[in-house]
Amino acid sequence: MKNAAVAVEDTDENRQICMKYCGICPSYRKNNMGKYQPDSLFCSRGMSCFEEKKEDRCFCLACELFTKHHMALGHFCTQQ
Ligand code: SF4
Ligand code: SF4
Repeated sequence: MKNAAVAVEDTDENRQICMKYCGICPSYRKNNMGKYQPDSLFCSRGMSCFEEKKEDRCFCLACELFTKHHMALGHFCTQQ
């Protein structure tokens, strides 16, 4: 896992922050990630379980949790 040192807590508050970015990103929408578990906060809860990978841009770099936890690269829904 590339962000093993980073501990993002799995809380409702963090899920809401996440959805401001993941929820509107092209990769999320193309893969209908809202239909699968985990449906958000992939940097904490692990990769999405969607079936066919249609990767596009990642909005994690704009996320306040990404900055706060000194993360790198993004695409946590598909690469960990
Ligand atoms: S870094 Fe990405 S996956 Fe993690 S909370 Fe922010 S938008 Fe969601
Ligand atoms: S981790 Fe990045 S690519 Fe995946 S849904 Fe969130 S913003 Fe989009």
